[in-house]
Amino acid sequence: WARLRQGLSRSSQSIGGGIADIFTKRKLDSETLQELEDVLIRADLGTGAALRIAEAVAKGRYDKNVSPDEVKTILASEVEAVLAPVARPLEIDASKRPFVILVIGVNGSGKTTTIGKLAAKFSRDGFKVVLAAGDTFRAAAIEQLRIWGARFHCEVIARESGGDAAGLGYDALEAARAQNADLLIMDTAGRLQNRTELMAELEKIIRVMKKLDPEAPHAVLLVLDATVGQNALSQVEIFSRTAGVTGLVMTKLDGTARGGILVAIADKFKLPIHFIGVGEGADDLESFTARDFARAIAG
Ligand code: GDP
Repeated sequence: WARLRQGLSRSSQSIGGGIADIFTKRKLDSETLQELEDVLIRADLGTGAALRIAEAVAKGRYDKNVSPDEVKTILASEVEAVLAPVARPLEIDASKRPFVILVIGVNGSGKTTTIGKLAAKFSRDGFKVVLAAGDTFRAAAIEQLRIWGARFHCEVIARESGGDAAGLGYDALEAARAQNADLLIMDTAGRLQNRTELMAELEKIIRVMKKLDPEAPHAVLLVLDATVGQNALSQVEIFSRTAGVTGLVMTKLDGTARGGILVAIADKFKLPIHFIGVGEGADDLESFTARDFARAIAG
């Protein structure tokens, strides 16, 4: 909780500070409500959620004095109501051996780092984890994954950069099977400037994996960078269309005052949110829980 609160401090300061500025010594009226909506929209919660929250705050309190703390409590409960249906742990079905997790998202969103954090977490939980360096376009990504793998004693299946990612995925699944691994986590490239090729590559990775296991990948995690704000919404749209996203991870919530984007995404797409990233370290991946996030972000 302390780490989450600290990680979300920029967002909560902006929202909580804004609420304190608006409602200290002022009545609740159309002007203060509009200002509240503006604060929420600036924090990227989205117009729909901002309006609903303002309405919830207004209910029965019009022309009355309300304390900032009262507003924050209502905000937290409204945010929790949006997030509760999508806050879901990533469940590893042990009957799938290996359980295959494909990790997708645009370059720089934090895929490789998130895989490192997942490798740390699942190894600690006693799973045998194999990693596949499927971002074959960036030599640095392959190297980065090797470092994470070495740190947490996970084998990393890689080829020279420039290789075929789908072929690598096939090899990695075969290798993970041969080793009786519990989990295979595969990185992918994220060149959104070359969208058609990227989507074709993701489709091919999935198609080729299915030759070995018709149900693979068992989870497709889309990694989103919270600092890109509203752009994250279009990324969800683009990737869901092609790759059958099963869940989300939102990274870099520590680096932004616009963490409300997670609420906007939950509101719009209703996709499960499994984890949030609140730093660059191995332990900076938090399981996503609606109540804690809502309380932390409300300030
Ligand atoms: P990829 O291109 O999607 O694989 O992205 P990377 O994993 O290489 O991450 C890009 C940068 O974001 C790196 O410098 C990471 O350390 C950083 N990063 C990833 N996740 C987080 C996070 O949760 N918080 C912060 N502050 N930085 C992060």
